[in-house]
Amino acid sequence: MADKPTLAFFSLACCEGCQLQVLAANEKLLPILERADIVRFREASDGDADHYNVTFLEGSIVTEHDIERAKAIRAKTDVLVALGACATIGGVNVIKNFQESDDVAEYVYGDKKDWFPHIPTRPLKAEVQVDVEIHGCPINTCEFLEVAKCLLMGKPYRQPNYPVCVPCKLAGNVCLWHKGVPCLGVVTRAGCEPFLCPSAGHKCIGCRGLVDNPNTEAAADVMAEFGLTVEEVFREFSLFQGIYDDVAKMK
Ligand code: SF4
Ligand code: SF4
Ligand code: SF4
Repeated sequence: MADKPTLAFFSLACCEGCQLQVLAANEKLLPILERADIVRFREASDGDADHYNVTFLEGSIVTEHDIERAKAIRAKTDVLVALGACATIGGVNVIKNFQESDDVAEYVYGDKKDWFPHIPTRPLKAEVQVDVEIHGCPINTCEFLEVAKCLLMGKPYRQPNYPVCVPCKLAGNVCLWHKGVPCLGVVTRAGCEPFLCPSAGHKCIGCRGLVDNPNTEAAADVMAEFGLTVEEVFREFSLFQGIYDDVAKMK
């Protein structure tokens, strides 16, 4: 990487909340700014460059134009980081995949629906090579800083590959299932700590996607103990988890 690497931020279909999480780091961004130049970050400054060492790309792909943009950005960067659930697993934009395409367009655009052609929502990795993923809706600012630090130091970032139950138990929480609340922490990738939803009494809704090789047999046992099947639980949590079926169908 260059002496002073260049960083860029872009967004596709999303709320840009993950870029706000980056800005929310405030003075914790200073060590990064000392070591790198942010040459493109629409939410914070003007400017652009022909080439980027690291690009953080937020948002999912919902149009053919998004595919073109993702490919053009990929061609201009050395390292592409998928920033947030929209980029890594399709995010909340996946909801439209569960409804008739025409109905969705009409609901949003009315009689102008044909002006806005769209395709089934998909994550970045369905269309371009992604080098690093930062999960979450929104991302965890601490994790963003860790990833940025690793990239600038030329070290690999190893994302957590254990379920949310691990930090939840370490935090001393009583499992929400014992309070009659289904929680997806059993199969969801950790990394949101110390901001765990169950620590605040809220169920995990799977915003960080599944761990690699989730132990669905153990999860099924837990769910059966409380009178639910894995399918029933996943249906309830289709907000984030549904993308896996859709990506499988698209391949
Ligand atoms: S992952 Fe969530 S917070 Fe981030 S851009 Fe998508 S919808 Fe917004
Ligand atoms: S509350 Fe959720 S994350 Fe915590 S132990 Fe229970 S299933 Fe796991
Ligand atoms: S507990 Fe679950 S829903 Fe909450 S931030 Fe972590 S992964 Fe996302």
